[in-house]
Amino acid sequence: MSKASEEKTCINCGVALVNGRRSLCPDCEAEDLETPSAILMATKNRRLYSRIHFGNYIEMDMLNGNPISRGLLAFRPHWVPTDPWRGHYECPIPEGWARVIDGWFCGVDGHMSNNDIERFHQRWEVEKDYPEFEMVAVFPRTSNVLTCGLEVFVHTEDLWKYAQWINHEGIGHAIA
Ligand SMILES: [Zn+2]
Repeated sequence: MSKASEEKTCINCGVALVNGRRSLCPDCEAEDLETPSAILMATKNRRLYSRIHFGNYIEMDMLNGNPISRGLLAFRPHWVPTDPWRGHYECPIPEGWARVIDGWFCGVDGHMSNNDIERFHQRWEVEKDYPEFEMVAVFPRTSNVLTCGLEVFVHTEDLWKYAQWINHEGIGHAIA
């Protein structure tokens, strides 16, 4: 085998690679993960167990560095163009899962595209009350830098549990 055919180059910028195991140079790898097309957060048994950055080329679990299960890789988002300059990333719905929230929120005026996002924000972010059942929340990027998507998934058999969780009013309300 000639030396030239052994030389690997970065698939993004074309620079020669020192470590032949990877397909991106260190600069492009860092950039790919710093500007992810989506961030996926997965919870189960009341704890956050995975936070995945989906880059254009690679994906990495930023929470614990563990290999990503095929089940979570199935959520890898794809770009959906709305015109030549604008669009957003969107997740497929893997088999056995239901998408219970499909919306977006705006970081400047606090606008949320539906009430469930507000409820979700309260339960999940403010109260940090992660449910017992498995739940996947994906934050896909949009071409509007101020707007972020939110897609939430649960297993189809957990739809009723999700309805109870999202509508839960907290201990004070339950007793009253
Ligand atoms: Zn590169």
